[in-house]
Amino acid sequence: MSLRDRDKKHLWHPLTQHKIHPDALPIQKAEGVWLYDDQDKKYIDGIASWYTAMYGHCHPYILEKVQGQMQQLDQIVFAGFTHKPAVELSEKLMEILPVNQEKIFFSDNGSTANEVGIKMALQYFFNQGKKKNTIIAFEDGFHGDTFGAMSASGLSVYNGPFEDFFIKVVRIPTPNASNIEEVKKQLTNILSEHEVAVFIYEPLVQGANAMHMFEAKYLESVLQICKENDVLLLADEVMTGFGKTGTNFASDQMDCKPDIISLSKSLTAGFVPMAVTSCTQEVYDAFLDDSVGKAFFHAHTYSANPIACSVAVAGIELLASVEIQENIQKIIQSHQDFDTKIRNHSKVKSTRQLGVIYALDLNIEMDRYGEKRYQIFDHFMQNGVVLRPLGNTVYILPPFVITEEELEIVYDTIYQLLEKIL
Ligand SMILES: *Cc1c(COP(=O)(O)O)cnc(C)c1O
Repeated sequence: MSLRDRDKKHLWHPLTQHKIHPDALPIQKAEGVWLYDDQDKKYIDGIASWYTAMYGHCHPYILEKVQGQMQQLDQIVFAGFTHKPAVELSEKLMEILPVNQEKIFFSDNGSTANEVGIKMALQYFFNQGKKKNTIIAFEDGFHGDTFGAMSASGLSVYNGPFEDFFIKVVRIPTPNASNIEEVKKQLTNILSEHEVAVFIYEPLVQGANAMHMFEAKYLESVLQICKENDVLLLADEVMTGFGKTGTNFASDQMDCKPDIISLSKSLTAGFVPMAVTSCTQEVYDAFLDDSVGKAFFHAHTYSANPIACSVAVAGIELLASVEIQENIQKIIQSHQDFDTKIRNHSKVKSTRQLGVIYALDLNIEMDRYGEKRYQIFDHFMQNGVVLRPLGNTVYILPPFVITEEELEIVYDTIYQLLEKIL
């Protein structure tokens, strides 16, 4: 039996209606920006496998570090024990995180990193005898699929069956030049009507919301109001973290720094799952007490797994390298050149870019999971490029190691879509 058929027998894939789309494509190998399927056809990974493999797949430097770590120490309980990879990772993160961050808490994925951040914020106030029960979030944000993270997420296509069970979240629109005064007014009203503990937000780019972007200066004024009203700021940098927006973190592009930051995805460079939630000394200090009761009682079995930590350390070393930093600048420039070429095309409604993230909205009506979407996806796949359209948005978020020639293949495939398919 083929791998495809064996897959169908027992496997249940995420975000998949198996009745309509029963087939999954087997990938047998990956190297750099290239994925190889079971027929040895190769594809450029134009979205870095959901923004994880930013240094390319199976990077030899990371591989070497992981292999060494695997032979040394595989796993150890992180309550009461510690190890060098975790300590090193905390130090490496301090070198690149916004300066006010001081402490690192581990979990397993982006959703849990946000759960941890939300719980930290709620308990931060609880420990001080303040009962704050409300979270503010952006409309159409995405923070993950566990209950707290899902409550904070505004994308209803995922939330429908669960909405009756959510924690209390009040939403505001993402700010822009035309609505900023209205958003500020809404926010002020919410703050006077509710006991708000934390504002959770994807800074500058909402990934799952079709790479919706908004400007730093408008976000900054929203953050400022929260700060002035004793509301903690939780920046969900699960997608935006580690260089993708042109700075190490999107939060670097604003003066107002978050109290808590959640990170995952490219933290571990596509090798293994892991996440961290960082916070300020002030947040951490609210959990210190002579009684055990004020401690943060949240744990995941694989917290700070040494192998995952060693991957993350190696990944941050690569991010800091001259080669990767230069490549980021090259990709930014290439995207701009491509944009000049296509932004006035009749099939293009609008385009946007931040760092290595480039998105264009097609000038056609489309359902998020409609047939047209699969037709466009198939066009890309036939041409050896993995891009996953979100509604009528096509976006590129390539590994930092992609070459100019490889980028040209991606651009050309999009150009062919505009010229021949649509
Ligand atoms: C992917 C993502 C998450 C969820 O991360 P998982 O690892 O899939 O649980 C949360 N927030 C943002 C901004 C994301 O892009």
